[in-house]
Amino acid sequence: MAVSLPLPSYFTAIFIISRLMSIVGISKHWNIMNISSKLSVPPLDVADKLSVDPSAVESASRDFGHIAKSVPKAVLHPSSVEDIATLVKFSYNSSVPFTVAVKGHGHSVRGQAMAENGVVVDMASMKKHRNGTGIRVSSDGLYADVGGEQLWFDVLNATSKHGVAPVSWTDYLYLTVGGTLSNAGISGQTFRFGPQISNVYEMDVITGKAEIVTCSPKKNSELFYAVLGGLGQFGIITRARIPLEPAPKRVKWVRMLYNDFSAFTRDQELLVSINGRRDRNALDYVEGSLLMDQGSPDNWRSSFFPPKDHKRITSLITNHGIIYCLEVVKHHDDQSEDTLDKEMRQLLKGLSYMPGFMFEKDVLYAEFLNRVESGEVKLRSKGLWDVPHPWLNLFVPKSRIADFNDGVFKGIVLKRNITKGPVLVYPMNRQKWDDRMSAVIPDEEIFYAVGFLLSSGFDDREAFDDQNEEILQFCDEAGIRIKQYLPHFTSKDAWIHHFGSKWETFQQRKHQFDPKMLLSPGQRIFN
Ligand code: FAD
Repeated sequence: MAVSLPLPSYFTAIFIISRLMSIVGISKHWNIMNISSKLSVPPLDVADKLSVDPSAVESASRDFGHIAKSVPKAVLHPSSVEDIATLVKFSYNSSVPFTVAVKGHGHSVRGQAMAENGVVVDMASMKKHRNGTGIRVSSDGLYADVGGEQLWFDVLNATSKHGVAPVSWTDYLYLTVGGTLSNAGISGQTFRFGPQISNVYEMDVITGKAEIVTCSPKKNSELFYAVLGGLGQFGIITRARIPLEPAPKRVKWVRMLYNDFSAFTRDQELLVSINGRRDRNALDYVEGSLLMDQGSPDNWRSSFFPPKDHKRITSLITNHGIIYCLEVVKHHDDQSEDTLDKEMRQLLKGLSYMPGFMFEKDVLYAEFLNRVESGEVKLRSKGLWDVPHPWLNLFVPKSRIADFNDGVFKGIVLKRNITKGPVLVYPMNRQKWDDRMSAVIPDEEIFYAVGFLLSSGFDDREAFDDQNEEILQFCDEAGIRIKQYLPHFTSKDAWIHHFGSKWETFQQRKHQFDPKMLLSPGQRIFN
């Protein structure tokens, strides 16, 4: 069958298959017929979509973190779900299987989407081949079927055309649906609507056994819950059905400043306690952050404060060391300015922010959701986007957040003077998460997401790594039972500790859905 190919394709196929043979460690004197006959799906289906081009391999060896580097043997540029399944099947059936990592948008920071000596599946190529059909809104507007490779930015654009939108987002929209559903997908909406993994009706998944399975809470539910927050360990998400709601037109966006951490967290907790999905009195978004940089109250993640107020905010930061910024949003459509102001005043009544330090904006819903993009554009123009990102994201139980403020924000970060760049701190409710999913969160009903989203230079990264290490050590010694979000560990014991009571299930699911440990080796859990 191979000989009937046009000559150039035939030679390409031979080349690629010999490449695959070398990946799986089969000696070159095997011929194609031998290999094909051993497989239930002929490898020639994907052979011409595998690339060993140095630039493709180099790009698959890097991520947003600019810290890790793992070089794959080849990169698959799939044009269909079947291409990906064929590749996984080829490895699964091989006597010496190779690992397969799916690269969504490569916005991990520690090599999680890489595959040393394996094959990286470049999901961007699926997007190209779907030719605009990757996001389909149902005729009743209640959900969208979205390819795992799609960016949330594109999901927003496509659904908005129908007057609808998802309800749970990330702060930054240039992340893939498969990438965020493999973690959790959190932002200021999480306290009310749950993380993105709590907002999925069903998925199509290619397991580590190369089976293409549709799963939901009712159908193949074990796989459904495994994959959500599953760090890519159990299957490759090729489609997710996402619930939609009518899209708001505009948002009232407010920031308030505090110098007292306990007042700041008390107010945040009060606001997230009103969290019914249909509750008109609830806010639509609650976040918070630290202002520590005496140079400017704005950072790359957002330019919010009116320039005329920069000076007085900066002098607050200079006086107090840290200022805490509470950020909230209320969606609105056609309300008059008066009604809206009244509603907002009612919602924020009794909060203890510093008088005179409330700032507000009214912007389009899409502009608010895509607020981080302008920061990216600015950083790119200065060559400051593709730099190391030694990020640390933690979930901290509410009962210890004050200790965390004293020990980490004041005790470590201020002392070390690593104060440039966003540090987020905002609460969420455990009840909005589903414990059957693989994602790991603290045991308490309210816990805080704390994100140190810092950029370093190529020469001074060590200082940032040391700070992260000190933070983790402090929490350990102080008995603060944090969980890492977007976790990164270098030993199996650390992973077992991370998953805690979920470890047994996690491991069983791995044996069930990816028994040969092919998928997502860059997480370094089983590989
Ligand atoms: P990748 O980095 O490509 O992949 C991440 C992991 O998921 C890998 O293990 C990969 O193999 C696996 N994977 C990717 N696609 C699939 C798939 N289709 N099926 C199965 N497994 C898959 N996170 C938040 O929750 N909230 C935020 O507000 C937020 N903001 C961010 C802002 C920036 C600027 C950046 C860089 C990251 C941010 N993140 C945020 C983190 C982000 O959600 C994760 O890093 C996410 O994994 C990135 O998505 P990606 O498509 O780039 O995934």
